[in-house]
Amino acid sequence: MQAHLTSYEETIFSKIIRKEIPAAIVYQDDLVTAFRDIAPQAKTHILIVPNKFIPTINHATQEDEAALGRLFTVAAKIAKEEGISESGYRLIVNCNEDGGQEVFHIHMHLVGGEPLGRMIAK
Ligand code: AMP
Repeated sequence: MQAHLTSYEETIFSKIIRKEIPAAIVYQDDLVTAFRDIAPQAKTHILIVPNKFIPTINHATQEDEAALGRLFTVAAKIAKEEGISESGYRLIVNCNEDGGQEVFHIHMHLVGGEPLGRMIAK
């Protein structure tokens, strides 16, 4: 966990965005990149991230609103392509320790393809 840190460095996600390391990228544009989660927790599990390095949602500013908004519209587009629009899916953004954030570059999880159960498991 890095939640106690006050400074943050680029993560592996920046390398994926720049295509410096391999990932199963399903979508990329000027603002966001989407790729399959390396350890999927549902039949469909895709991460959608802003291309800009923003460590946590606490660091988001007004100038990030276009990219953060794009996360939602790209999620809906990918859900349609994955064939899960109608069956349903869940979008998750974790923040810091209690939220379970492990990679400190904002990312939206798109999970679905099967019933997901309760929203919060403790
Ligand atoms: P979070 O707990 O919200 O920070 O989620 C981080 C997610 O990143 C986890 O679901 C990991 O499986 C995923 N992940 C970590 N490294 C990679 C990678 N190189 N490629 C794809 N997904 C990754």
